[in-house]
Amino acid sequence: MNTVAKKVLDTLAQSDFPYRQLIEMMPAALMILADDEAIFVNAAARELLEADPQDELLGLPVTAFVHPLDHKVVEERMCQLRVGASLNPPMDLRIITRRGQLRRVLSSSMRVVVGETPLIVVLVTDDTKRHESEDRLRENEDNFQRLFESTQDVYYRTDANGVVLKVAPAVRRVLGYEPEEIVGRLTEDYYPHPSERDALKAALKAHGHVQDFEGRMVRRDGVIIDISISSYVLYSPEGEFLGVEGIYRDVSDRKNLERELRRLATTDMLTGIANRRAFLERATESLRHARRYDKGLVLFIVDLDHFKSINDRSGHLAGDAVLKRVVETISPELRETDLFGRLGGEEFGILLHEAHRQEADRVANRLGECVRNLRFLDEGGDEYGVTISIGATELHHDDRGIERLLVRADMALYAAKDTGRDQTQWSPF
Ligand code: GH3
Ligand code: MG
Ligand code: MG
Repeated sequence: MNTVAKKVLDTLAQSDFPYRQLIEMMPAALMILADDEAIFVNAAARELLEADPQDELLGLPVTAFVHPLDHKVVEERMCQLRVGASLNPPMDLRIITRRGQLRRVLSSSMRVVVGETPLIVVLVTDDTKRHESEDRLRENEDNFQRLFESTQDVYYRTDANGVVLKVAPAVRRVLGYEPEEIVGRLTEDYYPHPSERDALKAALKAHGHVQDFEGRMVRRDGVIIDISISSYVLYSPEGEFLGVEGIYRDVSDRKNLERELRRLATTDMLTGIANRRAFLERATESLRHARRYDKGLVLFIVDLDHFKSINDRSGHLAGDAVLKRVVETISPELRETDLFGRLGGEEFGILLHEAHRQEADRVANRLGECVRNLRFLDEGGDEYGVTISIGATELHHDDRGIERLLVRADMALYAAKDTGRDQTQWSPF
């Protein structure tokens, strides 16, 4: 230990007040420099610098602990003190521990004179954690901002009243509005009807979040689009409802494709009415409903009479045209709620909801008459007509599936054919 250091420490030791023990045990790191060399380093400073017990820190210049990028500023601060400044206020610095770790610290320094020896006292507190969390926060914010600006999905955030506080620029592409036009307005304003957001609100209330929740919104040009929303509810640390945050995207293309695929899967291509599978599915549903609410239900199987002869005489295409015309003739005679489907070939199913035999008979007669009145021209220019036979049955209380009704209607149809065609027969049981 050099003589200056000894003198200083002796002076401290001689004081009545135990300065030396005090600065040794204080929680802040403290270093005393004389002639720019460390002459005293307290326990907190040794710990901060990750110095081993045998590591000799005394005699080292202050720059030995400072990150090279901060050497210049530290030297300037030391110089300030040497030329007369008494204090350097706290500043952020980077130091390097004896084990090579970077630490972010807050450091202040002060010039004191002990006896006649000018000294510099450096006080340092470890600020690494705050910097790390700030860095992380800044990085998170940067990432969020990048995402917010560039994502194809529309990020949005509302307050507790549903007023939009923030919306991403992607909203221009999805809804055709500038973000500024949307901020401050209610989210409901962009729904075809405000109540359409109720289902989303209810789901958010029940679960706190929703994933790929489907809904509709209205673009600036008035076009209604399909959207998919993922959102969650925001609460303050005290549990107060703050609003909703999430993203939505335009899924119209996918939904239109799904709708088209569903239509293709359930529609008969020639006539445009339900195909066999769709008819039976819907009929099964209707039967369940009718049984539960004790409603009447009537099933018709409609079959064209001598249809083969039309094909034979005028060709398959003419036969197709007849099938289409017959469907076009029957459809408007039915109620919108009734089911009409093509069961196969020239055979159709009709399910009349909440109907009983008497009124169903009237419908059947009307259908027979409408079809009978149709006129077609064959290739030779001769007119011809077509008739239908109908097998009919009512729902029985022990009918558990639609198959039973189909079997009975089919037997009744057979009877109608057998007894001259162009008529309706009811199943006898
Ligand atoms: P019936 O009065 O006993 O019902 O006689 P039908 O000739 O109508 O009955 P059949 O079952 O003997 O013939 C049905 C014909 O319908 C046979 C088939 O060639 C024809 N057919 C089935 N599907 C189509 C179709 O999509 N287009 C056309 N053009 N004909 C079809
Ligand atoms: Mg037929
Ligand atoms: Mg047939």
